Amino acid sequence: MDIAELAAGVASGNRRSLARAITLIESSRNDHRERADALLDALGHSGKQALRIGLSGTPGVGKSTFIEAFGMMLVGQGLRVAVLAVDPSSTRSGGSILGDKTRMERLSREASAFIRPSPSQSQLGGVARRTREAVALCEAAGFDVVLIETVGVGQSETVVAEMSDLFLLLLAPAGGDELQGVKRGIMEMADLILVNKADGDLLPTARRTCADYAGALRLLRKRSQDPDGFPKALLVSATKGTGLSEAWAEMNALADWRKDNGHWAAHRAAQARYWFAEEVRQALLARLSTAAARDRMRDLGDDVARGALAPAAAARLLLADLGA
Ligand code: GDP
Repeated sequence: MDIAELAAGVASGNRRSLARAITLIESSRNDHRERADALLDALGHSGKQALRIGLSGTPGVGKSTFIEAFGMMLVGQGLRVAVLAVDPSSTRSGGSILGDKTRMERLSREASAFIRPSPSQSQLGGVARRTREAVALCEAAGFDVVLIETVGVGQSETVVAEMSDLFLLLLAPAGGDELQGVKRGIMEMADLILVNKADGDLLPTARRTCADYAGALRLLRKRSQDPDGFPKALLVSATKGTGLSEAWAEMNALADWRKDNGHWAAHRAAQARYWFAEEVRQALLARLSTAAARDRMRDLGDDVARGALAPAAAARLLLADLGA
């Protein structure tokens, strides 16, 4: 398909065009990559901005239930919602944590929703780069909200935070000693902690968990990109639908404050820098993984092992051969 035509389809908000465009950017074929770059370039100046919301939580915490309920609420307000996933487990184990079951059935039937599973690539870096581009495509397609979901696998939270304006951490009610189970680094990334399943018998535990996390958040250093009171911990119930509109109001309050105070644009600019550096890193790694590079690496490694070459000298030779 002609790239200009595909770009026009995406820009008009056509979901089939968007799906085809994402398939193109996910392809590892070189000729596809060139077309994907042309497509992103053609759509790069749309000026449209979505609210990009990263969402993380361990399996079973209620991510799909939350996204379905939250997405339905937004759609009900006339907003267009895209849902993407970063799931590096999808290739490692052959099955995706975020894609196996039929997820978000109601939301997937909505005309103003778009749901896309995680790209399957062997490296988190590959998954993340493609998802980041898919976010840009959804934005160009005029979606108001782009939700990017991930499980806490390896560095996946960090890369999702690097493509999000806001980062949410979904937690389940738990005994006090489980507070330590959430890594400090993840807490520091979160703009909102949502304690889900705050309903029925779980409500008292959920309240305690929420208070514990609110306390823990207060101990973190105050961030310059936050107004007073953030980051916050809130109670929600994805199945009952309670707390969702309050959470949405907090997200908007935070986003508005950051826009008014210059943090929004600065954050996106810093993210663009991050992804540029990441592309460079990935391109260098790709050069190292060709058959020729691997052969040369093995030969030079033999020389180093024999003591014929120093490691640093051998590395310089290899990089020179690669033109890097
Ligand atoms: P995910 O693995 O994080 O996507 O979690 P799911 O959305 O699949 O939910 C895991 C389980 O928790 C399911 O049995 C849900 O019905 C249940 N669940 C999700 N949200 C809630 C909630 O708000 N309250 C209660 N009581 N159960 C919930």
